[in-house]
Amino acid sequence: MRRLFAAFVATMIIFVGAPAAAHAKAPGGPGLGDDYYPDYGNSGYDVSHYDIRLRYTPSTDRLTGTTTILAKATQDLSRFNLDFLLDVSSVRVNNRPAAFTTQGEHELVVTPARPVANGGDLTIVVQYAGVPSTEVGAGYTAWIRTPDGALAVGEPEIAWWWYPSNDHPSDKATFDVSVSVPDGLEAISNGVQPRPPVRETLGYTRWSWRSLKPQATYLTFLAVGQYDITTDTTSSGQLIYNAYSQLLEPDFRNAAQASVERTAEITDWESEVFGPYPFEARGGVVTPPGTLGFALETQTRPNYSSAFFRRGSNTSVVVHENAHQWFGDSVSVEEWKHIWLNEGFASYAEWLWSEKNDEGTAQEIFDYLYATYPADADIWTTAPADPGTAQLFGDAVYDRGAMTLHQLRVAVGDDDFFEILRTWAATHRYGNATTPEFTALAEKISGQDLDALFSAWLYTPSKPVIASVAALRGAPVAPKSWATISATHDLLHR
Ligand SMILES: [Zn+2]
Repeated sequence: MRRLFAAFVATMIIFVGAPAAAHAKAPGGPGLGDDYYPDYGNSGYDVSHYDIRLRYTPSTDRLTGTTTILAKATQDLSRFNLDFLLDVSSVRVNNRPAAFTTQGEHELVVTPARPVANGGDLTIVVQYAGVPSTEVGAGYTAWIRTPDGALAVGEPEIAWWWYPSNDHPSDKATFDVSVSVPDGLEAISNGVQPRPPVRETLGYTRWSWRSLKPQATYLTFLAVGQYDITTDTTSSGQLIYNAYSQLLEPDFRNAAQASVERTAEITDWESEVFGPYPFEARGGVVTPPGTLGFALETQTRPNYSSAFFRRGSNTSVVVHENAHQWFGDSVSVEEWKHIWLNEGFASYAEWLWSEKNDEGTAQEIFDYLYATYPADADIWTTAPADPGTAQLFGDAVYDRGAMTLHQLRVAVGDDDFFEILRTWAATHRYGNATTPEFTALAEKISGQDLDALFSAWLYTPSKPVIASVAALRGAPVAPKSWATISATHDLLHR
């Protein structure tokens, strides 16, 4: 019906002979139709690069900046949306001032002076200022003020508080992030430093960062504060850049350093298991105590809550966040409901690390979880392939996701299982993927019909029955690694 009507209108215009008839300009949409977050991201264009140039003053939490977005129209475009919360003072599109207004909670609606044809280039320049800690979106404030600076680290929401974007993991882009902060502070982001920090006027120093590979908006981070930095290069010549908040107590600091300094070793091992490391740099940021409550796989450089290190060193969390560089960062979800493709895989990496270090095999961890989660627990009543927003970071996504991968490994054998993981990472490198694509790949490589396995483990909200369960006699003993893995997951579930 709608289609017929549009065709009729187009025909009419052509008959009238208006010059604009060739392109029936239409507005871009305020969302991408994600099943869970329909108004996240925007339709009508595709971003290739963000240039984010900011000044930030921690004492007032004042952020001012200009973000330049390079994009291509994916339809004839009369106007389009960006996702953003701060106050905008001007927008230019293709060198002309553009009209703009806000709509709803996080939509910035931009009307270019001249419409853009499908396939046409967009250069969008947005000037803005604000106090991010006073802005509320999705019911909370993701921007975190710390005693000595700030943290922009969050999932799925974070970009809205510091740069305008097409905020959905299906539109990845490269980034330049350049931030001027008071002398003596560090301003840390993803990737490599195209130039060392530069002193500007009036007591400010500018820090510049560059992400060379496509990066999702939520995986782009900013950490401002007083950090001790360690740098090195890997055997392959990649930058390792680690940052430790100077506010960490010495025992936390030592435990954090004893974990995060092993990032190169851990990612080298992960490269053997998952295939080549996908990015240009490695490292980690350990945030001030009492600020960040979780860890996030921010691209090339995960951010960690200091709480992960309160009981001593914790390599599990380093393994988890860096496994995401393959599963989550390089291969990103096409929609948020596919989140187990991130969390199940990163959790299973912890099991593999436990196995490698003789702290419990993946099978032992599987058996322990299968036997000990009560029958009515969320892990069984939630289908990992469609957890809903309330369980987006729940046990089903993490632990049952990992259990699903273990059942796949048991079914197809180690050779096929690890080939499936490596082929998955290679096939969708720097792109997006879905659960049906993964299950199809597993069937293709193994040559097996795995419908029953995936149906029970991924799609059914009840505890799967396994044939070998009779082998589980008596009370299972927790594998040695389980205390650390489970404490890590309690924090990751945030
Ligand atoms: Zn994770």
